[in-house]
Amino acid sequence: MNILIFGPNGSGKGTQGAIIQKKYGISHVESGAIFRKNIGAGTELGKKAKAYIDRGDLVPDDITIPMILDRLKEDDCKKGWLLDGFPRNVVQAETLHKALKAADIKLDFVVEISLDRKIARDRIMGRRLCVNDNNHPNHVFIDAIKPAEKDGKQVCRVCGGELKTRADDQDETAIGKRHDIYYDTNTGTMAAVNHFKKIPGTKVITIDGAPPIGEVSEKLMKQLA
Ligand code: AMP
Repeated sequence: MNILIFGPNGSGKGTQGAIIQKKYGISHVESGAIFRKNIGAGTELGKKAKAYIDRGDLVPDDITIPMILDRLKEDDCKKGWLLDGFPRNVVQAETLHKALKAADIKLDFVVEISLDRKIARDRIMGRRLCVNDNNHPNHVFIDAIKPAEKDGKQVCRVCGGELKTRADDQDETAIGKRHDIYYDTNTGTMAAVNHFKKIPGTKVITIDGAPPIGEVSEKLMKQLA
C-alpha cells in the first residue's frame, strides 16, 4: 500500500503516520525527519538544509526532490510506503506524480488531515521528539501521548528515551512561515494536495484533525481498510 499523507505542522500527521505505518507494515518516509537525521549526523546534506529549516523555509527543490525520489527506490519501500512531508509545493507534486507514473507505481490513498491554522500553531509548541525513535509521539498538552516522568524529568512515553524539542517548533516566526507555505492554495502545499486530489481514480480521505488522536485514527483506519 502506498499512501501520501498531508496536514499542516501540528495537525497530528506524524502521530497518525506512525499508527498507519505500524498497522500496515509499510515504510514511513518523512522528509523532515530525513533532514533532521542528516543535520544530527553533520552530513553535507544536513549542512545545506539546516539554515532553511531553522527559518521555516522550504529546503530548495534541487536538494529535496532527488533525496525523496531516491529514498522511495530503496528496498524497504517495495513493501509499500507512507510519504509524509513531501510534496510540499506544486513543483514537487508534479515531479512526484510523473516519477510514480514512469515507475508504474500505484498511489493507493491520499490522506489529508485538516486543521485550523491557530489550533495547529498552539499544538506545535508542545510536541517533543524521542531521540531513539521518530515514531514515538510525545506531546506535553495532549493527554493520550503525554511524556512519562523519570527522576523528575520528562522522558519518552514509549521507550523512556530522552526527549528533545525542535528548534523550529519554538520559534513563532518559523512556525508562521511553515503555515504560510502549507495553507497556500496557489503554489504551496494545499496546491500540491489539490493536484493529487484531482487525479482521476485517486482515493482521497479527508479527516478533521481537531478531535483526540484515538478518534482521528479510528476514523482514518475505517476508511483505509
Ligand atoms: P517537517 O518535519 O515536515 O515539519 O519538516 C521540517 C522542515 O524540513 C520544513 O520546515 C522544511 O524546512 C524542511 N522540509 C521538509 N520537507 C520538505 C519538503 N518536501 N520540501 C522542502 N523542505 C522540506
